[in-house]
Amino acid sequence: MPISMHLPDEQATLAFGERLARSWRTGLVVYLSGDLGAGKTTLVRGVLKGLGYTGAVKSPTYTLIEPYKTQRWQVYHFDLYRLTDPEELEYIGAREYFGSDTLCLVEWPERGNLFLPGPDVVIRLEYRQDGRQVDLEALSDAGRVALAGI
Ligand code: ADP
Ligand code: MG
Repeated sequence: MPISMHLPDEQATLAFGERLARSWRTGLVVYLSGDLGAGKTTLVRGVLKGLGYTGAVKSPTYTLIEPYKTQRWQVYHFDLYRLTDPEELEYIGAREYFGSDTLCLVEWPERGNLFLPGPDVVIRLEYRQDGRQVDLEALSDAGRVALAGI
């Protein structure tokens, strides 16, 4: 069953990301959907903060993938907005990034098409008059466990 929540401001998005990270116990593939500016990268910042990462988090719009080493997992933050051809993911060896010990957070997953593994969790962010709405859905057993604790 999808979970919905209202996020009144940027701080709420960051705090929600932190809270997610704290209840996650395994590596996951997380799809982040939503328009430009919906708060996907902000949520990733919160997740990384929740995992104890204290450095800067920049949007990998041009690099497509940004790696982060955290205590619990290797994290890969994807932003596929500028991906012109899903096959590009094959050329850059994106498949290697997905594994049970990695947390993959993917912005614009629809651009990766069949070259991406299916998600454990889908997070959708939408504009609201005051802030954003976030909807979360689990699509695997690991995803259901990941969302059960929040
Ligand atoms: P995306 O990665 O989806 O393009 P970003 O996270 O880069 O979006 O940017 C979202 C913008 O919206 C930032 O300026 C951020 O401060 C702001 N923002 C994030 N969460 C909220 C929220 N819950 N309410 C209002 N503004 C938010
Ligand atoms: Mg972004």
